[in-house]
Amino acid sequence: MVSTNKPETREFQAEVKQLLDIVINSLYTDREVFLRELISNSADALEKLRYLKVTEKDIHDEDLPLQINIELDESAGTLSVIDTGIGMTRDELLENLGTIAHSGSRAFIQHLIDSDKKDVNLIGQFGLGFYASFMAADKVTVYTRSYRPYENGCIWTSDGSGTFTIEEASDLPRGTKIVVHLKDDAKEFTNTDTVKRIIKQYSGFVPFPIILEGEKVNTVQALWAKNKNEVEEEDYVEFYKYIANDFDEPLFRFHLTLDAPLAVNALLFVPKNNFEQHGFGRMEPGVNVYCRKVLIQEKFEGILPEWLRFLRGVVDSEELPLNVSRENMQDSALLSKLRRVISGRVLSFLNEKARKEPESYRDFWDKFAMFIKEGAASDFSHRDKLVKLLRFESSKSEPGALVSLDDYIERMQEGQEVIYYINGPTRETIESGPYLEAFREQGLEVIYTSEAVDDYIFGQLGEYEGKKLMSADQDDLELPGEKKTPAGEALAEDELKALTVWLKEKLGDDKVSEVRKSERLVDSPAMVLSPGGVTGSMQRMMQLMQKDVNNVSPKVLEINPRHSIIHGLNALRQKDEEFARVVGEQLFDNALIAAGLMLEPRQMVNRINGILERTLT
Ligand code: ADP
Repeated sequence: MVSTNKPETREFQAEVKQLLDIVINSLYTDREVFLRELISNSADALEKLRYLKVTEKDIHDEDLPLQINIELDESAGTLSVIDTGIGMTRDELLENLGTIAHSGSRAFIQHLIDSDKKDVNLIGQFGLGFYASFMAADKVTVYTRSYRPYENGCIWTSDGSGTFTIEEASDLPRGTKIVVHLKDDAKEFTNTDTVKRIIKQYSGFVPFPIILEGEKVNTVQALWAKNKNEVEEEDYVEFYKYIANDFDEPLFRFHLTLDAPLAVNALLFVPKNNFEQHGFGRMEPGVNVYCRKVLIQEKFEGILPEWLRFLRGVVDSEELPLNVSRENMQDSALLSKLRRVISGRVLSFLNEKARKEPESYRDFWDKFAMFIKEGAASDFSHRDKLVKLLRFESSKSEPGALVSLDDYIERMQEGQEVIYYINGPTRETIESGPYLEAFREQGLEVIYTSEAVDDYIFGQLGEYEGKKLMSADQDDLELPGEKKTPAGEALAEDELKALTVWLKEKLGDDKVSEVRKSERLVDSPAMVLSPGGVTGSMQRMMQLMQKDVNNVSPKVLEINPRHSIIHGLNALRQKDEEFARVVGEQLFDNALIAAGLMLEPRQMVNRINGILERTLT
């Protein structure tokens, strides 16, 4: 390279000086991002050239391959980034690497000056990426030559201390070579492995070959930016394994391309396994955020709501970087818009899966239901779509098969306005209990909720598609169909009345708020109902939380006037009131057991033994 004129020394614009001063004198948490910035500038320059090749006739060094070379020289202590992009003319060089045009960049510099924490790592997002090289350099030299024929090359050099020199140079190839003369404490950037790792991490998807010591480092393509029908199935799988660090194939894949309401490409995956379900601790978010294929942040928490933390993949939006910094990104309006749009699409995708491929959705549900429930319970903005995804067993589903609320509504009887549900640990427990009896008689379907969070969601929801949601153990339940009179003779009204008053008195206000005749029971002697909409599962949760397992709030006790135990109790009351009281207590406790509220039954054993003794002697 022959210099054709004398180097000319120029001053940086005041803001650039201030910026360089901060960059040079700050401590860095991850200064390796300077390489990302230089590569990203090179990729931009190559992208522009690719475009010009279509529109311009005359391009200098037309046949040079479009690529980025990284050269390391340990003895000279330099790292060079060389591209064959559009290059810069002398005027462009003066303007681009000496002045600052964007007002956003100026504002950012002012922010850096004002704040105590000099978060220099962000400068790439503010159109100042080139200056990041001074985090690692004590001198930077730029060789560049424009694609325009008849333009000379130029050499730009600076140690970042306020001035730079510029001189013309002939016989440079098209493009830009940036030589970073590394500071003494930054010599690790001449190490091949280190540099390779950095390139893979931040620039792995840059759409031009990045060549380090003869080897292409970025081998996986940025599939998210491609057209769906241009991507092969196995490319998706390979991509997933690469970004999720997984050996298995993904369960689902979701490729999204949007122009409105905002420009975003996303490629998201549901893994095959949910380790959180198996107690391996909380899953870390696994979605990386890119801007035009350059990594902005890995595993970015704010890009999706927490309940979607099981997703793996990439979100790329060109709207993200310039005016957004990582520290205020968490609550930026743009970010919440992105989050809303993407999660809405993910939910539509899952709903579609559920409709078109119920079997694979079932597989998803068995593993990831907890996240959908978490979302339905906590994220008001997406609740409608989330609730559609919920699945349950029901009194009309085959054991093991699941139904949705929509399935339920489709099967509702004429005139039925309420969706009924009941909580219990298993199908067997629920079906052997007293609560289903009346529903069974009338052919009404009841959804079985297995977890307290299900009841919590239904309680919050109140209704679905205009149908009320009611727990079958609520005390104010009126079933719609005709009441059939069950077989057997009922206790006379006045005796029944006296029995309920007596029972209420013996059990006491702590246990029962009311004892009354049941219109619902068929086979069981008694059941407890929950006044005030506190369902059995909520009650159970409170007991567990208060660590007072048998502290049950007062219940409504309904007794079955046709049941032989009730007849017997009534007769016993008149012969041996004390023993009748004991039986009454046991009757109540049995109803608590059936409701799943007797969490510590051992204290009953003495009473039961007493009752056994009486029957055996
Ligand atoms: P940004 O790239 O965000 O605009 P930089 O400070 O990194 O900010 O770069 C300033 C300008 O310098 C770029 O916009 C581009 O015009 C020019 N530039 C930087 N690197 C190169 C390169 N390798 N090839 C061509 N032009 C470049």
